[in-house]
Amino acid sequence: MPTAIHYTCQRCTACCRWPGEVKVGAAEIAALARHLGLSEHDFIQSYTRLRPARDGLALLDKGPAADGTSNHECIFLEGRDCAVQPVKPIQCAGFPNTWNFPGWRELCEAVPSLPQSQPFEPRVWSGCRDSNPGPLRPERSALPS
Ligand code: SF4
Repeated sequence: MPTAIHYTCQRCTACCRWPGEVKVGAAEIAALARHLGLSEHDFIQSYTRLRPARDGLALLDKGPAADGTSNHECIFLEGRDCAVQPVKPIQCAGFPNTWNFPGWRELCEAVPSLPQSQPFEPRVWSGCRDSNPGPLRPERSALPS
């Protein structure tokens, strides 16, 4: 069975700047609106857009920069921080562990680690002693003379 790797976010913010959508459902909208002290109606009007498939809402991007270049940053990205971190959408909280896409590793700086629940046995090669028959021992022919 393959070992599940857990990736720890390094707050590189790459996932907050990619083109795409951050989907938000009713419960997320309620939490975000409450966090910002807004009514749900005002939150929806100020911070969401209809998804292209017209099957729900997504957070707004910041839109084009002053010089006209495209800017796909999430409306809630402030430098390297998320302005709604305590109530950020499930989609944000899950990346890259619960979902990701081909090529994400080239863009994201998350650090892989073994899950805490797995017992960890360090496999450190301790030299060429004959008393070390472990599988990591190199072939004698590979050792420096
Ligand atoms: S809501 Fe926060 S975590 Fe999610 S994309 Fe926006 S800035 Fe990033």
